[in-house]
Amino acid sequence: MTKFYRLLAAMMLFWACNSYAHNPSETVTKQTVTTGAITLHYEFADAQSLAKQQEFTAVITDGIRYYQQLFTGYPRDLAGKHYTDITVRIRHGKHLSGEADPKLLLLTWSDNTMFGIHTWQTLLLHEIFHLWSAESFRYQDGREHWFNEGFSEFYAFKAATQQGYVSQRDALAIAAQPLGFYYSAKGLGKVSLREAGKSNQAKRDNYFLLYHGGWVAAMLLDHDIRHKTANEHSLDKVMRWMYQYYPRNIKLYNNADIIEAIKASTGLDYQVFFTRYIEGTETLPVVEHFDLGKALWDFEFNPEQQHHHVYLYHTLGILTD
Ligand SMILES: [Zn+2]
Repeated sequence: MTKFYRLLAAMMLFWACNSYAHNPSETVTKQTVTTGAITLHYEFADAQSLAKQQEFTAVITDGIRYYQQLFTGYPRDLAGKHYTDITVRIRHGKHLSGEADPKLLLLTWSDNTMFGIHTWQTLLLHEIFHLWSAESFRYQDGREHWFNEGFSEFYAFKAATQQGYVSQRDALAIAAQPLGFYYSAKGLGKVSLREAGKSNQAKRDNYFLLYHGGWVAAMLLDHDIRHKTANEHSLDKVMRWMYQYYPRNIKLYNNADIIEAIKASTGLDYQVFFTRYIEGTETLPVVEHFDLGKALWDFEFNPEQQHHHVYLYHTLGILTD
C-alpha cells in the first residue's frame, strides 16, 4: 500500500473504532480509541481534556508498550487474565493527581508541574506502571510501599526519558531531586523505609522519605546490579521476575520475596543491603556508587569522560540496553 492509502486505512480504522457519545446532563464525553492492540475507553470530564485526547493517547500507548516490553507481558486483572483495554477518566484541575486500578486509569491534569519535575505526562507514566506493579503483582501490606511507589517513580522517569518526554540532560538533573528530598527528610536515620509506609498516616507523614527513598533505592540497586554484572543484569530482570512469579490472584509479595527475586534473577544477594537500608535506618550510601553532578558535567562538556558513567546512564535511560 502507498503511504496515502495506509494513512487512509488507519483513519478509517480510527473512525470505525471511535464511538462518540456526549450526554449533556452528565457533561462527560465518552470516546473509544484503538491503537494497535490497545483500546482506551475515555471519559472526559471537560472540553479542555477532550481537546487533548491525542496527546493522552500518545503517552498512554507509549507507556503501555514500554512497560509491556519491560515486563514481557500486558497487565493482568484480578482473575489473572491479561488485558489491553483500559477505561481512562480524565479531568482538568489545579493540581496534578492520578490513580490506577486494574483496567482503569484516573488523571487530573494541569500544565503546572508537581514538585517542579512531574508533568502530567510523567505522572501518567507513574500510574500506568501501577497497572503492573501494585495491580498485577502486589505487596502484602504498606511496608512495601517504598518499593511500590519508589520504583514507580524510577521507571516513570526512565520511560519518559527513553520515550523523549524528558530530555537526557534533564534526566540527570531530575535524578538529583529524589536524593535531595530523601536526604533532607525528617525521618531519615530514625524511620526505616519499611516503617515509613506501614499505615496511611505513616505514608503521609513520611511522603518524601518513602517515595524518594524508594526511588533512590531503585537507582542504587539498578546501578549496583549493572556494575557487579558488567551490565549483563539489571533491575528490569527483577521486575520481570516479580511480574511472572507473583501473580496477585495467587500470592502477594513482601520484603523477603523481593530479596529472593533479585537473587533468582541476577544471582546477587542483597540481604545485607535490605537489613541495613530498607529494614534498618541506615542512610542509603549513594556517594559510594555514583556522582550525579559529575555525570551531568561530563554529559554536557566532556564526551571523552562519559565512559565513567555508562552504568548510571543506563540506569537513567540515557543509554538503552
Ligand atoms: Zn503511585
